[in-house]
Amino acid sequence: MCGIIGCVTRSRDIVPVLIEGLKRVEYRGYDSAGIAAIERGGELGIRKVEGKIDKLVALVDEHPIEGPTGVGHTRWATHGVPSELNAHPQTDATGKIALVHNGIVENYNALRRSLEAKGYAFRSETDTEVLANLISENYDGNLEAAVQAAFAGVQGAYGIAVICADEPGKLVGARNGSPLVVGIGADAYYVASDVAALVRHTRDVVYLDDLEMVVATPDGFSTTTLENEDITKDIEKVTWNIDMIEKNGFPHFMLKEIFEQERTVQDAMRGRLIAAAGDAILGGLRDHRRALQNAERIIIIACGTSWHSALIGEYMIEDLGRISVEVEYASEFRYRNPVINPGDIAIVISQSGETLDTLAAMTEAQRRGATVIGIVNVVGSTIARQSDGGVYTHAGLEIGVASTKAFTSQLTVLAAMALMLGRSRDISVTEGRQIVRAMEAIPGQIAEILSRHESIKDIGTRYARHTNFLYLGRGYNFPVALEGALKLKEISYIHAEGYPAAEMKHGPIALIDERMPVVVIAPQDAFYEKILSNMQEVKARGGRIIAITSEGDDQVEKMADDVIEIPRTLPHLTPILSVIPLQLLAYHMAVERDCHVDQPRNLAKSVTVE
Ligand code: GLU
Repeated sequence: MCGIIGCVTRSRDIVPVLIEGLKRVEYRGYDSAGIAAIERGGELGIRKVEGKIDKLVALVDEHPIEGPTGVGHTRWATHGVPSELNAHPQTDATGKIALVHNGIVENYNALRRSLEAKGYAFRSETDTEVLANLISENYDGNLEAAVQAAFAGVQGAYGIAVICADEPGKLVGARNGSPLVVGIGADAYYVASDVAALVRHTRDVVYLDDLEMVVATPDGFSTTTLENEDITKDIEKVTWNIDMIEKNGFPHFMLKEIFEQERTVQDAMRGRLIAAAGDAILGGLRDHRRALQNAERIIIIACGTSWHSALIGEYMIEDLGRISVEVEYASEFRYRNPVINPGDIAIVISQSGETLDTLAAMTEAQRRGATVIGIVNVVGSTIARQSDGGVYTHAGLEIGVASTKAFTSQLTVLAAMALMLGRSRDISVTEGRQIVRAMEAIPGQIAEILSRHESIKDIGTRYARHTNFLYLGRGYNFPVALEGALKLKEISYIHAEGYPAAEMKHGPIALIDERMPVVVIAPQDAFYEKILSNMQEVKARGGRIIAITSEGDDQVEKMADDVIEIPRTLPHLTPILSVIPLQLLAYHMAVERDCHVDQPRNLAKSVTVE
């Protein structure tokens, strides 16, 4: 789930590489960290801590280890509490094999019992220690052969990197369901769960696919399947650089990423809108345009924030494209018995492109005959590679665990897709041109909202001590209410719920009093009058209102306790604007409450477990 880095070189000490690599993947959220290196005497040196990488650095300063081959890990506990003992690297019973693992071994209980029957004793509660001993059980002087034999009996998701003290110049990596990338450096080879861990050393990478493995030595690397068939992989170039993963003077990555949205939304539409034809072209859908146009039904599948984009996408595509759309949670879709009819299109949305439930749902949809289109941010990620066609959101690396810029980029791509579908059905060129113009104005309008940052900060700071919030919206802004509430929960640990405004009277209204602020998204759209009535209902019960409304609206201003204005745009584009004050509100409340904004407790950036 979290971070892996491994490195093999001829002469250098790789411990600083491991530590720096772990820091680069820190953003994904983790609870413990560790490294192992094969030291010059041929012994394994291991340092592990419960807690943050700084603690690991202090430990390594106090008790140094060094060597030219090693692995490192940030753990997001699934089996066993976060503790030094459960932290990775995990070793086998002989203490010669050190393994780092992301993911979950589903049959670990059965494997553990059979190893115990053979006399293996276990020290940790992890599923990972089972893997280390399983490799050991199959080890006969050749690490890659032992890995192949061991993983023949493993069920579940894994990305692993493993070293063995008896073969000091060798690093083996393998994956099934959790990402693993190989880095090709000038004098070293790397494996990592995330290219961010590698960019400092190399831009040349090879992405492993499921059931593939790599063996690296200081002289080179080779790739095979886990069944030992040779495979030749393309070497790909990473295009982003180290500056993109720095904070650029912002106190947190999340704030930096909120402020990047003027540019990232622009990037998401760059080269995709055709002003004269009032249309959109999405290169990755070229081969599927006809299938999309003729689709009877589109199913959008996602989790978390991406699921909120999916809901907005549903409204956009039905409104503009006139195709019936259903939205599904990936975790539900994959285990139900969904009906897929010939010609159905599934759209999967994932920031990381590695979200395990989304990936599994995508495979299920493909198995049942649907064409799958991916909307993904991370280039080269598994969903991007395994979908039938797709569109990158081009938001750049998103480091804050709570997604912000990836969300608005997803909405931009969905708006372009809806326009494209609409133009092939009911939308005239004149209307199409009007939509293109409105889309092109969005980045500037985002900048306008961001220029009101100080007053949003003031509101956030004033409300930060409340313990419950309600978010209300209608139409396109109902999913925005869900997203606003999710942002607040994720980073400030304040309880918040999002509701379609009219649903309030079917339950949540019972909660309203002066201690429960209500955030109402009330732009002047088709639902304006209706939402004014909902605001009256809140006021009548003594509730306090923070309203997001259109510039120059004095009716809302009269009713609300605090108002944040957003520029006017077409209804289906409003969410791209209305969510931004909600991101900033959540951010400032979290900062005021001293929360760990970029790495909220219990959360991980890329959810590669079920
Ligand atoms: N399942 C493993 C554990 O709990 C690995 C977790 C991870 O992906 O970090 O130790």
